[in-house]
Amino acid sequence: MSDSPIPILSTWVEVPKNSDFSIYNLPFGVFKNKKLSPRIGIAIGDKIVDLSVLDQEGFFANMFLPEGIFIKDSLNELIALGKVQTKKIRERVQSLLLADNGELRDHSARGKVMVTRKEAEMLLPVKIGDYTDFYSSIEHATNVGKMFRDPENALLPNWKHIPVGYHGRASSIVVSGTPIHRPKGQFKDPDMDVPAFGPSRRLDFELELAFITGKQTKLGDSIATEEAEEYIFGFVLFNDWSARDIQAWEYVPLGPFLGKSFGSSISAWVVTIEALEPFKLAGPVQEPEVLPYLKSEKNHSFDINLEVLIQPEGKKPSKICTSNFRHMYWNVAQQLAHHTSNGCNINVGDMMASGTISGPTTDSFGSMLELSWKGTQPVKLEDGEERRFIEDGDTVIMKGFAEKEGIRVGFGEVTGQILPVK
Ligand code: MN
Repeated sequence: MSDSPIPILSTWVEVPKNSDFSIYNLPFGVFKNKKLSPRIGIAIGDKIVDLSVLDQEGFFANMFLPEGIFIKDSLNELIALGKVQTKKIRERVQSLLLADNGELRDHSARGKVMVTRKEAEMLLPVKIGDYTDFYSSIEHATNVGKMFRDPENALLPNWKHIPVGYHGRASSIVVSGTPIHRPKGQFKDPDMDVPAFGPSRRLDFELELAFITGKQTKLGDSIATEEAEEYIFGFVLFNDWSARDIQAWEYVPLGPFLGKSFGSSISAWVVTIEALEPFKLAGPVQEPEVLPYLKSEKNHSFDINLEVLIQPEGKKPSKICTSNFRHMYWNVAQQLAHHTSNGCNINVGDMMASGTISGPTTDSFGSMLELSWKGTQPVKLEDGEERRFIEDGDTVIMKGFAEKEGIRVGFGEVTGQILPVK
């Protein structure tokens, strides 16, 4: 982890203790409410700074921003301005929120600028062009290999050489709070002689983080590991809903398809990579050594605490998993370098998910598949309930935050309720 202490900042905004949205975070999101059309904001505490009003009131004067850049229903055009501009915007907002800065604090428009978060409806923050899902947790890949292949040779021969991934479906990625219907599909469980079509009987979540790309490349170009972070705008929590029975039957030989594409959920606030800088650390030692185009010298792993809760309808939520993003074997720089190593171009607003983030202990596994070990060991919830997989009416809640020296930078949560099959 970086050794330099984080400078102490204080704000005039009342930020509840343990809020994910501290003065150090300032994530971007898109919101609307009864009175306001879709627009871009930055979260702090229980408030949203309405950037469009700040802009109208002249707080971004001399920054040469395109007119109406904050009156948008996605962050794409803002992100496309580039990191120099978006960093300046975030730093300007941070300075306006500092305790000793009266510019906004004492301004007559303050009430219009500061919107109550509870009264806002969050929208999908980016128009996602392409979505890729990696498979970068060694613990997850080992668990899956043990269950479905050979416990003695759980990892496939390519796993420690390639950040394995597949191209997913962008159209069905939804913002936190959007319910998902249980998918129907074709499956053939081991006890079945012939396949059947019907509602999935093994519906699961996958605990992941995803990064959003902020800069495009040309077809044919590749990104080196050490320049990869220039292409990353920020991160969201990502629930890669998975129908295990459909997946198990369909995935040979071309990989995940309808067992995944029925829906994925993301958190609404995009935490910038700059806000996560203090929480960087070295990743696990990679042995055998990776090929030169995948080598990365700097720290590209992040110490981000993660948890998953299940809330059966009308009941209390129960925490069923505690993990950390630092466990990932392959880091984001390696993922992006690998993704573009063949000349595949990326665009602003692409989403690249990490793969299930499992840790080394049984309570840190990032899916029901692993937590219940293929459904053989039910997971106990409060209120005497237990789960092997996700049932209708269940809400899955994922949370994530980084914390150091009492400073907290978090994602809020991504939630999604499973509705009965349609
Ligand atoms: Mn996944």
